[in-house]
Amino acid sequence: MKKTMLGLLGGMSWESTAHYYAQINQHVRAAKGGLHSAPILLHSVDFESIAALQRAGDWVQAATLLGEAGRGLAQAGAGALVICTNTMHKVAAPVAEAAGIPLLHITDPTIAALLAAKVGRVGLIGTRFTMEDDFYRARLEGAGLQVIVPDAADRAEVHRVIFDELCQGQVLASSRASYLAIIERLRAGGVEAVILGCTEIAMLIGSDDTDLPLFDTTALHAQAAAEWLLQQDNTDK
Ligand code: GLU
Repeated sequence: MKKTMLGLLGGMSWESTAHYYAQINQHVRAAKGGLHSAPILLHSVDFESIAALQRAGDWVQAATLLGEAGRGLAQAGAGALVICTNTMHKVAAPVAEAAGIPLLHITDPTIAALLAAKVGRVGLIGTRFTMEDDFYRARLEGAGLQVIVPDAADRAEVHRVIFDELCQGQVLASSRASYLAIIERLRAGGVEAVILGCTEIAMLIGSDDTDLPLFDTTALHAQAAAEWLLQQDNTDK
């Protein structure tokens, strides 16, 4: 019997996909020990072409491209799919349908962690698509969470730093300061925790920077992905 592989749709950006790859493998090694590592198939896109479709609002074409990539991963032996970005979960449903395998949705482990921590009112920072469109917030709100996003100027700054800096591998102290100020304004608005709803944000800020609880979607999604792999029968046959 073939081993069950996990399919990653990555490169959005590759900076955060590298963290997914490392963290999934770290979980598998911690669970199984020795030389064990994660059976992964990765389709890493050229992010410029996807980001151009985002800017143009052409989510149909983005879904087609990622759906084809997902189907390729399924045909190569992936038993489940992980989209390594929050934003592209806007097209999660058509991508999963095209791939024909289960999709491990990034909001599921995030919601589970928030509910386990008894958070009711949560701040959300990410790309403008994630903060402003309905595809992401609706899932959180459907789970009973009250979601607060920064004001328009702060949303623009969060979005700018993601695309102009973090996705290009730049981690600047000045941007860390502006993110922490934005988080303080969210706290003043009554949030009990903040979702790092973009897979690059943990490159910039972490729990050492603020006493407000942060929920890192990259870490939570990578852990869920590793748990899925560990549930599969991956013994050599
Ligand atoms: N990785 C980011 C996210 O989690 C932003 C890049 C993208 O637009 O996919 O949303």
